[in-house]
Amino acid sequence: MKSRWDEADAIEAVARGAEAGIARDLALRIYTTQLLGSDPKLVLHGGGNTSLKTRTRDPLGKEVEVLRIKASGADMATIEAEGLPAVRLAPLRDLRALEAVTDEKLLSIERANLIDPAAPNPSVEVMLHAFLPHTFIDHTHASAVLSIIDQPDGEKKCGDAFGGRLAFVPYLMPGFGLAKKAIEVFERAQPSDGLILSKHGIVTFGESAREAYERMIALVSLAEDFIARRSKARVVVTGWREPEPVAAVAPIVRGACSQKDETVEGAWRQLVLDFRGGATVLSALQSDLLRLSEGGVVTPDHTIRTKNWPLVLPHLDAGELEDFAQATREAVRAFVAHYRDYFLRHNKRTGGGKQELDPLPRVVLVPGLGAFGLGRSKRDAAIAADIAEEWIAVVGDAERIGRFESISEADMFDCEYWPLEQAKLGARKEPPLASQIVAVTGAAGAIGAATAKAFAAAGAEVALLDVNLAAAREQAKAMAGSPVAIACDVTNSDSVGAAFEQIAGHFGGVDIVVSNAGAAWQGRIGEVDEDILRKSFELNFYGHQRVAQAAIKVMRVQGTGGCLLFNVSKQAVNPGPNFGPYGIPKAALLALMRQYALDYGAEGIRANAVNADRIRSGLLTEEMIASRAKARGLSEKDYMSGNLLGREVTAEDVAQAFLHQALALKTTADVTTVDGGNIAAAMR
Ligand SMILES: [Zn+2]
Repeated sequence: MKSRWDEADAIEAVARGAEAGIARDLALRIYTTQLLGSDPKLVLHGGGNTSLKTRTRDPLGKEVEVLRIKASGADMATIEAEGLPAVRLAPLRDLRALEAVTDEKLLSIERANLIDPAAPNPSVEVMLHAFLPHTFIDHTHASAVLSIIDQPDGEKKCGDAFGGRLAFVPYLMPGFGLAKKAIEVFERAQPSDGLILSKHGIVTFGESAREAYERMIALVSLAEDFIARRSKARVVVTGWREPEPVAAVAPIVRGACSQKDETVEGAWRQLVLDFRGGATVLSALQSDLLRLSEGGVVTPDHTIRTKNWPLVLPHLDAGELEDFAQATREAVRAFVAHYRDYFLRHNKRTGGGKQELDPLPRVVLVPGLGAFGLGRSKRDAAIAADIAEEWIAVVGDAERIGRFESISEADMFDCEYWPLEQAKLGARKEPPLASQIVAVTGAAGAIGAATAKAFAAAGAEVALLDVNLAAAREQAKAMAGSPVAIACDVTNSDSVGAAFEQIAGHFGGVDIVVSNAGAAWQGRIGEVDEDILRKSFELNFYGHQRVAQAAIKVMRVQGTGGCLLFNVSKQAVNPGPNFGPYGIPKAALLALMRQYALDYGAEGIRANAVNADRIRSGLLTEEMIASRAKARGLSEKDYMSGNLLGREVTAEDVAQAFLHQALALKTTADVTTVDGGNIAAAMR
């Protein structure tokens, strides 16, 4: 590992800080914190922390000594001054006299001593930083270091790898007890560079930002060399059969890792997936996986993201998906039962006051295929997958130089159910469509884009499908969450099939489809060219059928129901003169929706339609509005609001109707009219 300290960047960070009123030492503290945070081999997703002891003025103008410490859960890669709250140092140091202190009391003391009372909570490791005397302190969960210390003889291996540069602190849960232990060890051993926190991570210190940072890099490099020198030969695995594609496996895994929501009939509690393949993951999965997977996390705070153990599925052999699906469902049931048992035993041990978290796995390993991260959002799934990849790397290296050993199950429980760890995840008030995967066709158009946005705003994971990929990407860029744009021509079966495989491979499956792509053709029906009629049927009827069929295939594998939503036009119920080539396939589409509702209702798959009229869009352009208004002798405004309510209907109104249908779990075969009122187009 190379130092990424760059003198020119450091000078620039100081200059930028000065403009914002940030002192030199804090500017450099931010600079090296970002350097550490942006290397996944050092810290991942909110792990690790840094601090600075400095002087500042309190709100009354009095100069005080403070600890600037990373806020709990803050991401070191992107940290700024607000992410390093200032706490009065003297009262924190006085706490050393106490034998023990509760988490609640400690937090209230910390908060009472914040210079800015509105600042975020300090890191759970604040006391360790406060007790150590050094100006700059860096703490990471470096992978190479973990491979050396997650061992039955970790202390001996540390001595061999680092000599007297680091002193060894035995495992204790992060918090006040660990901080007291760490300062005792430091004072006794007087290491030159820092501390090892057994089965947890490494601390380096220095009198400058550069010194603490470069010590971290030097020691992690020593760890890397130590592993390289001692590694037993790697086992090269060859000859496994070509596995099934991820897109076929993901909905099986996702379906098996879903639970009925007991509070709302028809609702499911689901997870989103994030897949990782690659040679390292695959060959690791060939090794002594089952034993290792029961070994536990590589550093305690990963437990809140991945739980303590991954779910290991049987090896995936090509052509045996049915058996694999059955085995997957059984493996998930066993995992859930094991988790429940773990919770009950340790909840009893700790006095019985804990609330059980959901028992589903957050990492699923499929030998022959790769690893899935699971989460309530795409972002959480990707975090779990990142940690899973590091777990594979750390455990692999640990086994090459000895034997991987994590903390005890009781220690893992204490971390997983520690309120301060759970607080890192933030308050969890979930939006209504959290973890739901939605595909919208024609997503670059006015109604499609508005619908994609409305679903994303409701917390769904959204795939924007459009024949114009660049335009779909533009729409995705402007949206919340983790949307993905996918090329899809609904008049081509292969294109539709490929798009749904991409959705399943990317998110893990699909729950809701808004089948919206369409275009209008005109002609007097007795004289219209048959080619025009066929073209319109291809897009306005078969296009929807292809999309619905592809979606149904994924939904049935998941076995958790689903929702098909179609954009039928007013033409489906109230045909316009010379508009047959558009209206007739739309009338057939209305029948198609009802057929899906009828044929798949028993499997919990709903089908509904929105009947909208007169929306500014690609079908009704500004020029068409101008010419039609003129032909009727109306202003454009009066033409657009020519309905019972006298209100113009927008693409956003249509989007809200789709959203309503997606949320109405007891509604199927419904047509929702969004046209401001038109008696001739009323459903009955
Ligand atoms: Zn830590």
